[in-house]
Amino acid sequence: MKYIGAHVSASGGVENAPVNASEIGATAFALFTKNQRQWVAPSLSGKSIKAFQANCEKFGFLPEYILPHDSYLINLGHPETEGLEKSRVAFLDEMQRCEQLGLKLLNFHPGSHLNKISLQDCLSRIAESINIALSETQGVTAVIENTAGQGSNVGFSFQHLADIIAQVEDKSRVGVCVDTCHSFTAGYNLKDAAEYEKVWSEFDEIVGLAYLKGIHLNDSKKELATRVDRHDNVGKGYLGLEFFKRFMADKRFDNIPIILETPDETLWKEEIAILKEFAGE
Ligand SMILES: [Zn+2]
Ligand SMILES: [Zn+2]
Repeated sequence: MKYIGAHVSASGGVENAPVNASEIGATAFALFTKNQRQWVAPSLSGKSIKAFQANCEKFGFLPEYILPHDSYLINLGHPETEGLEKSRVAFLDEMQRCEQLGLKLLNFHPGSHLNKISLQDCLSRIAESINIALSETQGVTAVIENTAGQGSNVGFSFQHLADIIAQVEDKSRVGVCVDTCHSFTAGYNLKDAAEYEKVWSEFDEIVGLAYLKGIHLNDSKKELATRVDRHDNVGKGYLGLEFFKRFMADKRFDNIPIILETPDETLWKEEIAILKEFAGE
């Protein structure tokens, strides 16, 4: 079946995220386990961890369908030593938070070369950053998100994701999250029915569907191949409602978290209901 939810607020404590997810009828959710705009955050309290787990159980959320997202400040492919070190420390902290919460996935944007190193160099740094974090944690999979390719962000091509994975030592703990808005503006035409099939076969050939651990399901405010990251609500952007119907009926996306990051949160409940309908569930 399809597990669908949104990136919900964890304001007031991580334990509030499953409550917020349940209120919109979600069967999956994403959250930040710390303030996403700050480098350092207080550790999770034992009380908060217990309450999070109790709420997940109460509302029926399994760790497999919870897709935490790391801080936007982290750049695991940073060209400079100081920035890279700072990012690696912060990323390890994020992985450890997931470990403490009993979560299995951590979603992150791969990084940026900032026009100071080559693309391949940047991808290698990202892989090395993942290797370090995996060697110091257990049970949490590093889930690389594809990007729109804005600025000097890497990860907009499926080949970039494959090149990172190829350099990760423990392949059982690395995966990929595909953002549909990012894919579209990176040039993958998910809107067109025939192209939709081609995009997913290309993904399977280059990365492998076995690595797909989650989906960010967003419409796009920008046209195909514009390399701009602007999400839109379901059916309101350039991808359009037909895409969402096709996607939700596609069995390849069963049993992984499907997360809305659409801008108007007041529509989430309605969007989830409509998407469940499209899935025929
Ligand atoms: Zn995303
Ligand atoms: Zn985005």
